[in-house]
Amino acid sequence: MQPLVLKFGGTSMGDVERIQRAARIVAAERAGGRPLCVVVSAMSGETDRLVKLARAAGAERPEGPAVSGHGFDDEYDVIVSTGEQVATGLLALALRQLGVPARSWQNWQIPIRTDGHHARARIQSIEDGAVGTHMDSGEVAVIPGFQGVTQDGRITTLGRGGSDTSAVAMAAALRAQRCDIYTDVDGVYTTDPRIVKGAQRLDRIAYEEMLELASLGAKVLQTRSVELAMAHRVVVRVLSSFIEPGVAQIGTLVCAEDEVKMEQRIVSGVAYSRDEARVALFGVPDSPGVAAEIFGRLAQAGVNVDMIVQSQARREGAQNIVFTVTEREAQRALDAVRAGASIGFEEAQVRRDVAKVSVIGIGMRSHAGVAHTMFAALAAKGINIEAISTSEIKISVLIDAQYVELAVRALHTAYGLDAAA
Ligand code: ADP
Ligand code: ASP
Ligand code: MG
Repeated sequence: MQPLVLKFGGTSMGDVERIQRAARIVAAERAGGRPLCVVVSAMSGETDRLVKLARAAGAERPEGPAVSGHGFDDEYDVIVSTGEQVATGLLALALRQLGVPARSWQNWQIPIRTDGHHARARIQSIEDGAVGTHMDSGEVAVIPGFQGVTQDGRITTLGRGGSDTSAVAMAAALRAQRCDIYTDVDGVYTTDPRIVKGAQRLDRIAYEEMLELASLGAKVLQTRSVELAMAHRVVVRVLSSFIEPGVAQIGTLVCAEDEVKMEQRIVSGVAYSRDEARVALFGVPDSPGVAAEIFGRLAQAGVNVDMIVQSQARREGAQNIVFTVTEREAQRALDAVRAGASIGFEEAQVRRDVAKVSVIGIGMRSHAGVAHTMFAALAAKGINIEAISTSEIKISVLIDAQYVELAVRALHTAYGLDAAA
């Protein structure tokens, strides 16, 4: 029988009682006879605590650009990965107390190999032979999410929220029937249910849509996990761990576009991100090669640029260039464009009180007027748009951060996503 991968997030592993409930869910699944691999996150709050500790001890720039040789980042990963190790032991014990044979595995014992980009490593291979043999004998394998090990034996981590990626990668390696992600909501919603009470659970969502939702801010799944699921055609189901096993739940299936029913809504979801900064360069010379020079420097400094707007300046022969980066990268972006005098802009300005709100849906491909609905809904609330970017299945706008919730609610209503009261 094809195995099944289950993943429990931080809140689902929050205390011993919750871990016992997770164990009951695993035990109920085991009754179906499939070999099981369970991927766990650190108990909620634990990774934050470890990150603070590592920073206080001098681990710098953990999520910045690649540091050649040994910076501080390799020890950062040694510290922050430990939360998951504790969680594996706790869940394995809880399973044994239910009479379910189980054992924990650490990454170096499997191993899950990654590249050496500490704090944001990518999985390269999983040698799942030994784990698979144990699983086939009926023992539940409990493995830590978030971590990996390099070819030369150093511990790495996969970026915040990375346990989703560990679970999907494990499902791909084991050719699992499905990867069930247990979290604190019972599926993927039309928008963050913490912000919009009328948000609705989606029965199904296409990989492409989920990828946009995740990368535009919906943290229910880590973006990389969706990329991997899409590449390896792993069917992912998002479910709540806050129910007793045996109670039926539908959750959300993340699957191929042709499996998403064609009753199709135009917009499937609204996402937002507050982790944005807007960098404006005023009075940039209006001549060929200037943009290449600016964005070349940013690339060299390892800064990821998102939205870009270029406009005519008041002065003849000059233009303004505005772009967005994550808050963390704003200072580095500014330093990069200021380094050397050759660009010759008049003034550079950074604003951190901005946010990005996006609407996503594969239905946009075949419908006109989607952008108009968005702009009209924002205008009706008096919200100014500072930058726009689009792809085939999403439209994003940059707005003043204080209006994020208002904008998300207005768009949710404008696209008819509110649940009937
Ligand atoms: P875990 O600890 O299980 O990994 P996360 O906190 O990473 O869980 O992700 C779950 C949270 O994602 C939910 O509590 C919810 O507030 C948030 N979220 C944001 N957008 C969405 C969305 N569109 N659908 C469901 N949850 C969302
Ligand atoms: N524990 C890690 C984090 O908090 C990984 C995860 O939970 O997915 O980011
Ligand atoms: Mg998560």
